[in-house]
Amino acid sequence: MKIAILALQGAFAEHEQMLRLLGVETTLIREHWEDVSGLIIPGGESTSMMRIMRDEGLFEPLRQAILDGLPVLGTCAGLIMLDRNHLDVMDITARRNAYGRQLGSFNTEEEFAGIGRVPMTFIRAPYIEEAGPEVEILATVEGKAVAARQKNMLVTAFHPELTADTRIHELFLSMVTSSSNDSIPR
Ligand code: GLN
Repeated sequence: MKIAILALQGAFAEHEQMLRLLGVETTLIREHWEDVSGLIIPGGESTSMMRIMRDEGLFEPLRQAILDGLPVLGTCAGLIMLDRNHLDVMDITARRNAYGRQLGSFNTEEEFAGIGRVPMTFIRAPYIEEAGPEVEILATVEGKAVAARQKNMLVTAFHPELTADTRIHELFLSMVTSSSNDSIPR
């Protein structure tokens, strides 16, 4: 199993470290798309990430790979990148910088479906403002959806790579494993 981490800007090194801790091989994607078993789109700044992605010609290959079923984990800006207004692969609309000035960055702990209570670090984070019927909301903070899954796509508004808790990454890796065991042709 090899997982690609989009490394155009933002917090990609922390995801790399987390996967190393879990014994998973990674490759940093900057210019060329590679054939991999899964993809992580990290936090950062979605406007810059979008611009660099287009400049590097990564927008279409990446979008197509996700539509073809490649498992993807999007965290914070990565959640925004997958929504209807960006890569348009997931049936969600993200609200950017959604927590106001004082609450721009904060830590909390909340229930995550199927996992239990997990620590959550928010940094000028979005939340999911609207989600289509195929989207399963996995966690909410103060009534706002902050994590969700739709088929091969898993998103969190918080940064699981910035805590010592590896369970969100493990959930993603289990999606990767079950997708590669999947015999249904795509
Ligand atoms: N505020 C950033 C954006 O709108 C996301 C912040 C993050 O990824 N930590 O893209």
